[in-house]
Amino acid sequence: MTTQLIRPSSPELDSILGQTFPVLDDGFVRVVDYMGNDSSIVQAARVSYGDGTKKVSQDRALIRYLLRNYHTTPFEMCSLKLHVRVPMDTWRQWIRHRTASVNEYSTRYSIAIDGAQMTNSDQWRQQAQDNKQGSAGYFDQKTGSELTAAEQNLHRLSKEIYNSRLEDGVAREQARKDLPLSTYTEAFWQIDLHNLFHFLALRMDAHAQLEIRNYAETIGEQIVSRWVPQAWEAFKDYRFNRMTLSQQDQELLALLVGRKDQAADDWCREQGWVKTKGEKQILSREALEFADKLAVLGMTPPWEG
Ligand SMILES: Cc1cc2nc3c(=O)[nH]c(=O)nc-3n(C[C@H](O)[C@H](O)[C@H](O)COP(=O)(O)OP(=O)(O)OC[C@H]3O[C@@H](n4cnc5c(N)ncnc54)[C@H](O)[C@@H]3O)c2cc1C
Repeated sequence: MTTQLIRPSSPELDSILGQTFPVLDDGFVRVVDYMGNDSSIVQAARVSYGDGTKKVSQDRALIRYLLRNYHTTPFEMCSLKLHVRVPMDTWRQWIRHRTASVNEYSTRYSIAIDGAQMTNSDQWRQQAQDNKQGSAGYFDQKTGSELTAAEQNLHRLSKEIYNSRLEDGVAREQARKDLPLSTYTEAFWQIDLHNLFHFLALRMDAHAQLEIRNYAETIGEQIVSRWVPQAWEAFKDYRFNRMTLSQQDQELLALLVGRKDQAADDWCREQGWVKTKGEKQILSREALEFADKLAVLGMTPPWEG
């Protein structure tokens, strides 16, 4: 028996196919192609569960159930192909996601893209003191202007040297070696929705570097939200904005909710979450992370009370 199928499409995504969404000063993401939509996820799940839900509201509930319960393969039935333009330092973080298929612009074959990401004088971030991987706060305008001027000089010099190497006949594969990491590269990046959600969960997170976060937020909010609105909603609810509580978190939370203040203090010291060195109170990383979770719940940790 032959059943005529209609290709699943997303009119909302069709309407922005090829449209460039700018990111940073000269980067972008644009959708080149895609496969599937919200109903493709439901359709794949129905193969597992037999004939099931039919209404839109039931589809939404099923998608939410699947995402909540790590039934991930139906999300792999959708995929997205993007054309991206990204500075190489950001690309270096991006390319760590091994579950995508990638074709990148070759600076062996072609002359490097004549564009490097510039940082405006008000955008230079200071090294965070409490997080070795992070930044905190911005430099004043005067320092920022000096940093930007130095960056412009570096870009100009590296470009001059690159171009003169090419004029001297140096191979492109070698001439490129001193180009800065801020040089833009371009790639086609294709990934299924399950792995895209994994990428977005890590790279939209506040711990991700600002530059890659800008790309991830653009992909999520401008593209995925239009393409698979129900899956996007479920992702935000059950993955991105969820809070996880470890065994220890639960134990301490139970003591706090039960107003067992002394027991909570004792627990923190027994677990090594709070130590005292002279006058100083030292908090473990777990304690600090737990305090962040409590803040979301409008609560304060025992060591602040
Ligand atoms: C905030 C942040 C800081 C980071 N800091 C560092 C750092 O300091 N140094 C550093 O080197 N990296 C760092 N990374 C990169 C990080 O360790 C991961 O390499 C990157 O986020 C890709 O994650 P992934 O492997 O889960 O994703 P993907 O490669 O997309 O893989 C998705 C999932 O597929 C599975 N998978 C894929 N390939 C394999 C495999 N070969 N074997 C088993 N399972 C596999 C895993 O379950 C994996 O989670 C950082 C990432 C973030 C978000």
